[in-house]
Formats: sequence, C-alpha cells, structure tokens
Amino acid sequence: MEKINSLTGMTDLIETKADEDVLANKVFQTEKILKEIFTNYAMSEIRTPALENTNLFKRSVGDTSDIVNKELYTFSDKNDKSITLRPEGTASVMRSIIEKKLDGETHKLWYLGPMWRYERPQKGRYRQFNQAGIEILGYPEGAPEFEMISLICELNRKLQIRKPLIKINHLGDSSTKKLFCKALVDYLTPMKSNLDEKDLLRLDSNPLRILDSKNPNTIEILKKAPSISDYLQDNSKELLKSIQELFSDKCEIQIDFNLVRGLDYYTGFVFEAISEDLGAQDAYLGGGRYDNLSAQLGGKDLPAIGMAIGIERLALISYQENKNRTLISFIIISSNSEAKAYKISHELRSINKNIDIDVQLSQGSLKSKLRRANKNGAAYAFIVGDDEIESETVIIKPLNKEDSDQSTMNLNEIENFIKNLS
Ligand code: AMP
Repeated sequence: MEKINSLTGMTDLIETKADEDVLANKVFQTEKILKEIFTNYAMSEIRTPALENTNLFKRSVGDTSDIVNKELYTFSDKNDKSITLRPEGTASVMRSIIEKKLDGETHKLWYLGPMWRYERPQKGRYRQFNQAGIEILGYPEGAPEFEMISLICELNRKLQIRKPLIKINHLGDSSTKKLFCKALVDYLTPMKSNLDEKDLLRLDSNPLRILDSKNPNTIEILKKAPSISDYLQDNSKELLKSIQELFSDKCEIQIDFNLVRGLDYYTGFVFEAISEDLGAQDAYLGGGRYDNLSAQLGGKDLPAIGMAIGIERLALISYQENKNRTLISFIIISSNSEAKAYKISHELRSINKNIDIDVQLSQGSLKSKLRRANKNGAAYAFIVGDDEIESETVIIKPLNKEDSDQSTMNLNEIENFIKNLS
C-alpha cells in the first residue's frame, strides 16, 4: 500500500526521551518555560478556535498584507461559508473579547497554539507553526510598553537566546503616519521606474511597507528617503529612548526608524527581536500597539499592545540545559505475576514526583530491554522477575558506566532510595 505523507511545510514534533538535540524536545521545553514566564507576569490564558470567519482576517490583518493576499488557508464549509485557519492570534483574541462584551475592561492575556500560512517553506519558516502571544488590552501607551520589553528581556535570559537584538520604533499617531506616508510617496514617485513590482504595489496600497523591502535597489534608494524620526512627536521619541535606557543592562536594544511590521493594524510603538543565528528568517518575535483594532472589528475603543513569538524559531536559538528529571526504566521479566509488578511501579511513582518511571510494556529479553533503557536515557533500570515478586524486592541497576554494580532492595529500601533521588 502506498504511504501517505504529511503536507509540505507541516512538521511533526515527536519528543525523544534520550537527550538528543531534537527540535521537538526543545519546542516542548520552550513552551513550558514560556508558560512559566507568562504566569510570573500574572497573565491569563486565552484559547480561541483555529477556524474563524475569513472576514475577520481581511478586516484586521489587512487586505494589503502578504498574509491576507497570498497566504491564507481559506475554504468553504459545507454551508458555503468562507472560513479560514487563523494565520495569527491577535485578531481572534480581539474578536473573542468583543464578542464576550469584555472590551470595556483591562486584560493581560497569553495564548499558545498552531497558526497556518501558505508560505514557501525554508529553515525556520513552515506552513503550520506554533506561536505564543501576549495581548495587553485597555492600557494607553506607556506602562504596557515597558512590561512587554521587560518580558522579552526575561525570555532572552531564561531561554539563553543566542545573540538577541531587540529593535524598536514608533509609527506615530495617525496624523504623523499620514504626513510621513505622503512624504515617502512624494520622494519615491519620481523613482518609480527603479522599483520592482512588489514595491510598486506597496507604493499604491501601503507605502510604509516599502521600508521592509528586501530589494537591494530599493534599500539603496531608501537611504536618502525621509525618515519617520523627522515627523515623530517628542513624546514618541522619548518613549523609545527611555525604553532603551531602562533595559540597557539587560538587553541589547536598538532604535530602528525603518522598522515596520507586516500586519496592517499596528499604530505607535512597534518592535521585533532578531538573532543573526537564524539566518534569513531572523525574527523570533514581533509586535506592537494596535489601538484601533477593537473599533475596526466593531468593538469599543480599546487601546492594546501585543506580540507574537515564533516557538520553532525560539527553540532553534535557545540553549536549554538538560532536564534534571531522573528516568527509571522499569523492567518486568515475569510471566506469571506480571500484574503485581505493575502495582509496584504505580506505588513507586507517587513517592517522588521528580522522577519518571517508564514501564517497558513490550515482551522481550532482559538484554533488549536494558538496551532500550539506555537508549531512552534512563539513569537506572529497576528489574522485577518472579523471585523479586515472591520476596517483594526489586533489582536496581545503575546505567551510567562508572557505577554499574546492581543491588537488590526491599520495598522500604527502594522507597528511601527514590525519595533521595533528585
Ligand atoms: P508575525 O505574526 O508575522 O509578526 O510573526 C511573529 C513571529 O512568528 C515571527 O517573528 C516568527 O518568529 C514567527 N513566524 C511567522 N511566520 C512563521 C512561519 N511561517 N514559520 C515559523 N515561524 C513563523
């Protein structure tokens, strides 16, 4: 029979017990650490459906963004309704808060889950990937910006990110944005013939996004373009400066007046964190303020700031020490009283919550089971045969090479032994 493979750009994440440098292990560990950080910052979890009305993303992420133009997984359901697998989390969170009539309150929320974008897959870019995100709702510019950068510095520290750099910018209020956009268009229009098709489209639909261009010609042209820094109000510039100064001993922060974000809904403060170790797709998180999104989706005026973290990319550049948990491989080599041995393993698990007991469920020789225990990275094999069940004892075999003498212990001794394992 022909095999059926996964779809392009959609990866399986399978944890491996042995301490190998497997992306899945790092992804799951990264998720655990992120959840600890979110809890430390007193944030609450929100979980929204993977499928939403297609219009939600058209109205929020924006008709002119690459995500909505080219990358949405959109289908008709059995009722011919247009539905879309979410490409990002913010629109769904905002939809949910408005729908539940919670848009008159303040919130500190986090989420974690898969997102879908029909992109060209490459290192660190998938069609299904996982994002963790934060949404701080109901607070005007100032305090939440500091909290957000504080959290990113903590995340860089806890996950020991390699070569992190946080870039920050301010897109101004709507009148500043308008004036700057006009100046940019006035500067670029006489040079239209030097722009590629993509940048020409942006010039018409969303000129700020040209600042994001990867085309070397455009980058050269932009060197002499007007800068948003000439249009920003003093308080916006001061905010950037004070964030940079406040966290300068914790994180490397750079003010980058060319930083714009790929989604249309951002206003005001925006940021991105990059690591040169990631190569071409160097951003591992990004976000900003989107004070108009709630009203744009039919809700009340609700100031908001958020960010999304690419879990797979974060896992690629984080250094995590091996987990400290001790694994015991529990080997039963009895055919008549097997059930009793399972009861013993059940009791042992409750003695010390820091140890994990892997009961080997397959039939096979002691030798093959020991091989498997080693492969899985177990520190000890606990071996129970007919004699041991009869005498209520267990053979303990250390699996590290220096100390491989085995011993037989009664259940009391084992209890103490397990209690003392870290
Ligand atoms: P965005 O929602 O586009 O601002 O992306 C936020 C973060 O999600 C990025 O900085 C990446 O780390 C991650 N990300 C975005 N698109 C992908 C993708 N196709 N594959 C993996 N990670 C992604």
